[in-house]
Amino acid sequence: MTSGAGPARPQLEFSSRSRSSILAEIARAPLDLLVIGGGINGAGIAREAILRGLRVGLVDKGDFASGTSSRSSRLIHGGFRYLELGDLRLVFSACQERDLLRRRLAPHLVRPVPFLFPVYHSDRRGLAAVIVGLWLYDLLAAFRNIKRHKRLSRLATLELEPKLRAEGLQGAGYYYDCWTDDARLTLETLLSAWSEGALVCNYVVVSGFHRRGGRIDRVTLRDVVRDELLEVQARVVVNAAGPWVDTVRTLDDPNAMPVVRRTKGVHAVLPRNRVGNHGAVVVRSPSDGRVMFVIPWGDQTLVGTTDTDYDGSPDTVRAERADIDYLLDAVNHCFPEARLDVDDVVSAYAGLRPLVASGARANAGEPSMASREEAIIVSPSGLISLAGGKLTTYRRIAVSVVEKVISELRRREGDRRRFPRSRSNAKPLLGAKVTGSTQRLAVPLAASDQEHLTGRYGSRIADLMGLLEGRQTLREPLAPPAADLRGEVRIAAKTEMAVCVEDVLRRRLHVGLKNPSQGVDVVADVVGLMGEALGWDDDRRKAEEAAYRSEVVEERRGWERR
Ligand code: FAD
Repeated sequence: MTSGAGPARPQLEFSSRSRSSILAEIARAPLDLLVIGGGINGAGIAREAILRGLRVGLVDKGDFASGTSSRSSRLIHGGFRYLELGDLRLVFSACQERDLLRRRLAPHLVRPVPFLFPVYHSDRRGLAAVIVGLWLYDLLAAFRNIKRHKRLSRLATLELEPKLRAEGLQGAGYYYDCWTDDARLTLETLLSAWSEGALVCNYVVVSGFHRRGGRIDRVTLRDVVRDELLEVQARVVVNAAGPWVDTVRTLDDPNAMPVVRRTKGVHAVLPRNRVGNHGAVVVRSPSDGRVMFVIPWGDQTLVGTTDTDYDGSPDTVRAERADIDYLLDAVNHCFPEARLDVDDVVSAYAGLRPLVASGARANAGEPSMASREEAIIVSPSGLISLAGGKLTTYRRIAVSVVEKVISELRRREGDRRRFPRSRSNAKPLLGAKVTGSTQRLAVPLAASDQEHLTGRYGSRIADLMGLLEGRQTLREPLAPPAADLRGEVRIAAKTEMAVCVEDVLRRRLHVGLKNPSQGVDVVADVVGLMGEALGWDDDRRKAEEAAYRSEVVEERRGWERR
């Protein structure tokens, strides 16, 4: 199993059935590095660290990507908008990472999408200024983007998007970025780290630090599933807890200064035939002129995002009615025939940006004007905390964090080992070996299902097909219009460490976001499939079904019409 530079690990399944063995292995011997948080940043750090030969463990207090990393706009982008903030360095680096992910690391998960950027006479910047910006955007990508941008006339713009508001339209810019499945990219980065020997476990909370000579050397973990405590030794600890970074910092030092500014971003999933968009469109809010995205997602359209400061607990962040109204106003303004109201919303989700709180610009002014750069902070106890960052730049951030980890190991621990150079930019993620639908699969499948499966699992699907064999019903759709198949529930349970129904419906698959009932209609079926795969008894099955139903009700409570 272990193929990289990382230390050998016993053969274990990446399944919730192996959790006790994984945790025992984490506790068996000191880790070089314990990563707190299984979002995209923690996942990238674990992968980078194992590729550089460290003994690494990673835990997340909930499911992988259950924080911000499943609640983004899902763009792998240079960040055209950040040119306005003067963040040229960030845009340059993000363009490089976008191209690396698209071409080499995860082409099955990171797909090019053309964006239409309509410009109106009333906009603060006219078409000429937007086109200059797009030239700069192409330049910062070293002209290696999918295609160069185009300038479109008013007529050509309306030909592409006939339902777009025509009044006052000047024309549009047309440029390329990429789209991904954020939770899937996180999961696959973790699977890649795991396949190299990293020890990874979800539903494990870091609940305390212990020091020797003023420096953290042990950490208390609580296994949420079994409600058990365990203590692990770690030479270095990285806090990649996203919006919870400051909570973790106060576990280490109750007087620690906050390093993160949390801003809330809400997305809504709407029926595409009602919005009327053909492709991805950049829209502006009629109330404050903020830029947002309208992105086609199968039969649905994803619209977002808002950007407001948030002081509450990250555990209870929810979409509110005001957030949804703001998004619907923008869609109805830009697509006047849409006339959508809250009853048309299929689903909505809220996430928190863990922006850097230090520095003059980040602490003041509009949230959307705050920098998206990252900061790496080392506490006197040795705890390394990460603030800021983007989904897009996670690999580059991981390289910097692990460089810091290695220098701390050398400086503080007198570590004399020779660590191999970083090669995370050269090694594709686990499913990236073969792309597209060119693989011959052992089980006969409709072309659309084959495309769907290879688009999600990449080359891994060849190994996973066995789980779809036997019963034809496993190859039937779980809950249209989402393309997910029933057998994918088995895949999630047996090979992707899904612990509960929400892990499957909300993050491994798309039913929880794209299906009008958000999966409530099929929860009994999902419980049956998971229960069979994981050996659940009747009580567990009942509890899982009830928990998912009440989670959906709770999520919708904040914005639904009552
Ligand atoms: P998270 O994903 O939140 O992960 C932190 C993890 O730490 C969580 O899973 C949590 O459970 C765990 N944790 C917390 N405390 C503990 C503890 N005590 N013990 C164990 N585990 C713990 N970026 C882009 O590049 N493109 C986009 O289109 C984009 N859109 C965005 C839209 C919105 C609305 C938002 C909010 C962000 C967007 N971003 C985007 C930014 C990007 O999503 C985030 O920067 C990124 O997901 C942050 O990942 P993370 O790993 O730092 O945090």
